[in-house]
Amino acid sequence: MPFLITDGCILCDACVRACPNHGIRRGEAIYVIDRDSCTECVGFFNKPQCARVCPMDCCVLDPRLDLTEEALFERAMALHAGSDTQPTLTAETSHFRKAAGRRRAAAGPAAPQPEGVVPPSLPTTRRSVSWVGEIVRQWLGGRSQES
Ligand code: SF4
Ligand code: SF4
Repeated sequence: MPFLITDGCILCDACVRACPNHGIRRGEAIYVIDRDSCTECVGFFNKPQCARVCPMDCCVLDPRLDLTEEALFERAMALHAGSDTQPTLTAETSHFRKAAGRRRAAAGPAAPQPEGVVPPSLPTTRRSVSWVGEIVRQWLGGRSQES
């Protein structure tokens, strides 16, 4: 969800300088965020910089638009095409990846597999068939020796 600025804005200018996409400008009464320029900072920071620096907590997510990391990153790539500073996707530059890393850490290490347990080489039904075949072979072998 891209960000928007609410009425509490005091025109301090901090968010303008913090936005990696230069997507914030002064509106008629308060500052405004260009929705097409907001990438939730994906590509550059794992925290929305406008919200981080705003002293009034008036940079908030716009619930009307939900974009994936892929879509936001593509937007960042387009916005910075030809620029010396290119966006990247890491846990340091995407809040999606940072959150995924946290979830993995909270889940803990994967459960270890017990050692020395060798799975049966054949499913039970195939082993049964194999046993029956062996008995028949032995029986036939006995009969051929008798005759
Ligand atoms: S979330 Fe990031 S990209 Fe979006 S307006 Fe704020 S500083 Fe700019
Ligand atoms: S940082 Fe907050 S108060 Fe300052 S201009 Fe931006 S939105 Fe307004």
